[in-house]
Amino acid sequence: MVGHGGGWHPKGAPTMRILKQELYFPIIIGIHFLFWAIDLSLYSGDFIEPRSDTLLFGEYENTTGIHPSRIVGEVFSSWVVTVFAFNFLMATRARWVERIFGGLDKMYVIHRRSGVIAVVLLLAHFVAVPRDLTAFTVGKPLGFYALILILLGVVAAVAPPVKKRLRYHAWLRSHRLMGVFYVMGVAHAGLVFSLIQQLPITRVYVFGMAGVGVVSWVYRAFLYRRFNPELPYEVSAVRKLDARTTEIDLKPLEGSLAFAPGQFAFFRFPKVGQGEAHPFTIASTPGDGGLRIAVRALGDDTSNMQGGVEAGDRVFVEGPFGHFTAEHAGDQKQIWVAGGIGITPFLSLAKAVGDRDVRLIWCVANRGDAFYAEELQALAEGDGGFGFEVWPSEEKGTFSLAALELAGVDDTTFMVCGPPGLKDALRKQVLERGGRSSSVLDEEFAFR
Ligand SMILES: Cc1cc2nc3c(=O)[nH]c(=O)nc-3n(C[C@H](O)[C@H](O)[C@H](O)COP(=O)(O)OP(=O)(O)OC[C@H]3O[C@@H](n4cnc5c(N)ncnc54)[C@H](O)[C@@H]3O)c2cc1C
Repeated sequence: MVGHGGGWHPKGAPTMRILKQELYFPIIIGIHFLFWAIDLSLYSGDFIEPRSDTLLFGEYENTTGIHPSRIVGEVFSSWVVTVFAFNFLMATRARWVERIFGGLDKMYVIHRRSGVIAVVLLLAHFVAVPRDLTAFTVGKPLGFYALILILLGVVAAVAPPVKKRLRYHAWLRSHRLMGVFYVMGVAHAGLVFSLIQQLPITRVYVFGMAGVGVVSWVYRAFLYRRFNPELPYEVSAVRKLDARTTEIDLKPLEGSLAFAPGQFAFFRFPKVGQGEAHPFTIASTPGDGGLRIAVRALGDDTSNMQGGVEAGDRVFVEGPFGHFTAEHAGDQKQIWVAGGIGITPFLSLAKAVGDRDVRLIWCVANRGDAFYAEELQALAEGDGGFGFEVWPSEEKGTFSLAALELAGVDDTTFMVCGPPGLKDALRKQVLERGGRSSSVLDEEFAFR
């Protein structure tokens, strides 16, 4: 593969349509309700409820007709099956799925929130659904254990105290077991007495999606690497930028990664820690021949990389990913705001600005932290439309759009990469000035 040119393409305002969580959740909820509503309104079978017990509605004797607790309980459980199926689909990192969500970083945020929602739905299913007291099937204990294990898996993924204690690679390994728990849950759904088995549309949708979920998990867990080989690189230079940040240059050994300025890739340094692949933004431009990354110590592996990486080390690269690119920023006036190590995508993007009107503000604690200031200043002094300034918070306080003295924000696209507080503050200030949220593009620096 050969890297494509570093041009800023195509021209025009941002036109990309992406599925944001504000739309994603209503859509999957809406589809679900629709299928259930159609099936129930057309249902003409003679459903007989066995003697059952529910946590929420208590026990009832055999009845003809469908008990409301069954509808409530099964709507929840079938939702869980489909929500998790979409989550496994996201985990395949397929390009077309990433494109729908506007970048892998955004997609993983939805993936994480969906997991939490699915667990709430699962608990709702558990308390509402009737348990058949007349017969035992293996599906019953399977469902119970699946509930407990999925609950533990999602708590480990999102609960801050667990997140703090459980190291990322250990969590990632255990997270892969979610597929096994899911298969247990689907088997439970197929084995226990249920209404859904008599509803043709909902049944096909839910079990069809379950198939998608299981296949996606099998692909991700066992086949992913075969279809997505990593490219071997070698460390060609290492430079200490400050006490917590190291720049690493890589040269290709077998073929170069094709990427657009602003994208990121997964880098695996076998020598470091458990050899886990970590996402880093590519801070070089496609025409440079090699790759450059700047790594800040934010956890175990990134701390070990400070001083633990040397010229000649092997590195394996997979990518590229991400939509934080010029293509998605469009052609209009731009303001870029970087916070700390969030400067990395802009190092690549800045070289492709051409004659566009772009102003980059790099927020750092003090001027000494702005280790790329010289490189960016040199670009700003060139012929193009690129402007650059450092915002040291020790001198100027927290970043504020007011200080930029903008005439308006309607004709401007904002790109922001940095701590969540900076991103939220910028979006808020753009909205306060009458701008649209969609004119603010941001990059997530954490998946978990
Ligand atoms: C799209 C993207 C671009 C990034 N670009 C840069 C960059 O240019 N420079 C830079 O210094 N940092 C960047 N990061 C952050 C960097 O990936 C994490 O700091 C690093 O992975 C932390 O690993 P650790 O073992 O040191 O820390 P840990 O303590 O293990 O993890 C700290 C946090 O980092 C994230 N993380 C850790 N390992 C992984 C992994 N394998 N995959 C995904 N997320 C992980 C998780 O949110 C985790 O909670 C980027 C992150 C993302 C998502």
